[in-house]
Amino acid sequence: MLIAKGVMAESGMTRKAKIMRHRKCGILTLAGFDADSCALDAWCDLAELSAQGEALALVGGRRTYEVHADRLNYRDAWSIKARPAGHIAVFASHRCTDPVPATWRLPARPTSPSTQQPINDNEGVQF
Ligand SMILES: [Zn+2]
Repeated sequence: MLIAKGVMAESGMTRKAKIMRHRKCGILTLAGFDADSCALDAWCDLAELSAQGEALALVGGRRTYEVHADRLNYRDAWSIKARPAGHIAVFASHRCTDPVPATWRLPARPTSPSTQQPINDNEGVQF
């Protein structure tokens, strides 16, 4: 019934982005319909892009997508300018034999307070 209504594809893809194995190569991707209507299937590599990485992806002929409210949205010129990669999560379209290069990826963010430098109270501020 969901397939007949166009809410879900036979692959299980829906408007909500989710981790799915790519139908051809089996690699884990971020997948979902890319719009609320007239949507296309969007399959993205899981690497989050930097702004430079997004530019290189576009020059290389890939589409880019952002995640908003658990949905993948196609990024056009307006959205790229309004919400630069690095400020929001941006992903490049998947190519089976051409994964996103490491140089396109957003540098890893610190994940826990234990990676931060401890505050040294002995240095004190001179008044
Ligand atoms: Zn693939």
